[in-house]
Amino acid sequence: MTAGCFYQNYREVRLLIIHCSATRYDRDFPVEALRASHKARGFADIGYHFYITRDGYLHRCRPVNQIGAHAAGWNDRSIGICYEGGLDESDHPSDTRTYAQKCSLLDLLRQLRRDYPEAKIAGHCQLSPYIRKACPCFDAREEYAGLEEELSRK
Ligand SMILES: [Zn+2]
Repeated sequence: MTAGCFYQNYREVRLLIIHCSATRYDRDFPVEALRASHKARGFADIGYHFYITRDGYLHRCRPVNQIGAHAAGWNDRSIGICYEGGLDESDHPSDTRTYAQKCSLLDLLRQLRRDYPEAKIAGHCQLSPYIRKACPCFDAREEYAGLEEELSRK
């Protein structure tokens, strides 16, 4: 048992999982639309913990101590982060993150790694070879490998 288990609502977080909303880069998918679509799928609320819109704004969707609904099989030990976008003009998977989104995502991951130093960063499709999705449409493990190292040294 780790010391953290004594805190109320503590949850062991081993993974920070990145997603995209699978929205065309030139279309808006505001947080209200995300909420409506997830509720239509039977979720209590947005399945992700965080949602980053193209303007870089970080929407807090679920408290991190609550289990999310974003990656079946990994939800209990992970935090789900989604960015608005992921499709190019032909609806093909593409890293459409704006500069503002990249900055917000990096800030958020840095903060979360401080709170959960054991947690690894991975893209949704990197969780298992059986996940046949392009989500989040960039190599999150590779992009943030340096961040994991930087924070492990401290
Ligand atoms: Zn995903």
